[in-house]
Amino acid sequence: MTDPLGEPLLGPVDVAVVGAGPAGAAAALGVLRAWPDARVVLLDRAGFPRDKTCGDGIAPHVGDVLERLGVPELYDDHEPVHVLRLGFLGGTDAVGRMRRPARVVPREVFDARLVEAAVGRGARLVRHRVRRVGPVPGGVDVDGVLQCRVLVGADGAHSVVRTAAGLAPHRRDRTAIALRGYAPVSPGREHEQVIAFTDDAGWPAYAWSFPVGDGTANVGYGELLPAVGPGPSKARMLERVDELLPGSADGGTRWAAHHLPLSSGRGRQPDGRILLAGDALGLVNPLTGEGIHAAVRSGALAGLAAARAARRGTPDVAGATYRRALRAAMGTHLLHMDVVTRLAVDPRTVAAGLDVAGRDPRVFDAFVDMGLADGGLTPHVLTGLVRRAGADGLAKALLAAVRGRRAA
Ligand SMILES: Cc1cc2nc3c(=O)[nH]c(=O)nc-3n(C[C@H](O)[C@H](O)[C@H](O)COP(=O)(O)OP(=O)(O)OC[C@H]3O[C@@H](n4cnc5c(N)ncnc54)[C@H](O)[C@@H]3O)c2cc1C
Repeated sequence: MTDPLGEPLLGPVDVAVVGAGPAGAAAALGVLRAWPDARVVLLDRAGFPRDKTCGDGIAPHVGDVLERLGVPELYDDHEPVHVLRLGFLGGTDAVGRMRRPARVVPREVFDARLVEAAVGRGARLVRHRVRRVGPVPGGVDVDGVLQCRVLVGADGAHSVVRTAAGLAPHRRDRTAIALRGYAPVSPGREHEQVIAFTDDAGWPAYAWSFPVGDGTANVGYGELLPAVGPGPSKARMLERVDELLPGSADGGTRWAAHHLPLSSGRGRQPDGRILLAGDALGLVNPLTGEGIHAAVRSGALAGLAAARAARRGTPDVAGATYRRALRAAMGTHLLHMDVVTRLAVDPRTVAAGLDVAGRDPRVFDAFVDMGLADGGLTPHVLTGLVRRAGADGLAKALLAAVRGRRAA
């Protein structure tokens, strides 16, 4: 599937994509959907299939994006998981049946299938670790081995393309760290995704158990990095899994941790020929840590914008075109999530929200859309919170959240 390491690359190409995770593969598919003859190169430092540290939870909405890219039923052979159980401090505050099931697909499988689909459409997959990206007349140069008209940076949380696009590294106060492993699934948790929030240091913090469907579960724990000093050790995070979901880490293997760059309410995509998607742009949901939906959605939009701009001979407008498309598709969600995150600074707000969601399926559904994909605050959520906290309490909290946004 890949070119052998070190083989000299041929350029120029129309679009180069750095990183072949969900954002990069979706970007390549997006280009080829709009422009089937485009010359697209997909660069990744890893050979596929490869693991990616993740909870492997695939929101139902991911399938919608892939279907629009012409890749339906990519992982339908994996068992659907209908039930989501959300707990806070050891209690169960909301358990419900999702309108559409999620799937738990190990990234070794999910990412390889997506890459294979992109290659099947005509993308060329090349194994190469990108180090330098810079402008050249008429395009963008990659390490002196490849030139393209438009480049999509989908190289994850520690993106090198992000810096080349002129953006600062992800802010530490907007970055979480999470540990995951695979363990025999605990009895009773075979058919449900469980998330257990805690209000300890590192809030918003939670442990999870997601059944893979083969007798194991992907289990883990994540929290916000502290403002200063080192983040939690692997041993400490493993302890937290066991404290919040007792027994779920027993017999676990393949423990690994990784950073999550959380969304901040504004897409910061700059003008020009370098587009950023997925974790490289910092689109992970700040409350739930979900990033795959945002990765495929933004990747698909970046691919489309790149294809249109390159094909029309106006590659310089690619950044602005993509920024507008991203704002139209995800702007409201990102804004609402920012307000929700500010409301959730007080963990009691989350406890109240879960309590309301546990009583009203419409609020539960809205939480699923907001936490796993691109939904926003709905009238049902706001009405439920008003009933729970009182109009005065909610108005004060919202006011503080909006003031916090302005001050940031
Ligand atoms: C522990 C943990 C649990 C999570 N659980 C979930 C979950 O259950 N559900 C969910 O939706 N999200 C989850 N997330 C978030 C999710 O993993 C990411 O948001 C998602 O992987 C982002 O996709 P991406 O394509 O932007 O980046 P990635 O998946 O990180 O892909 C980036 C690709 O770029 C390549 N690359 C990097 N640097 C270079 C370079 N210099 N040159 C060439 N290639 C390069 C990498 O090899 C990789 O293939 C979790 C994250 C963590 C850390």
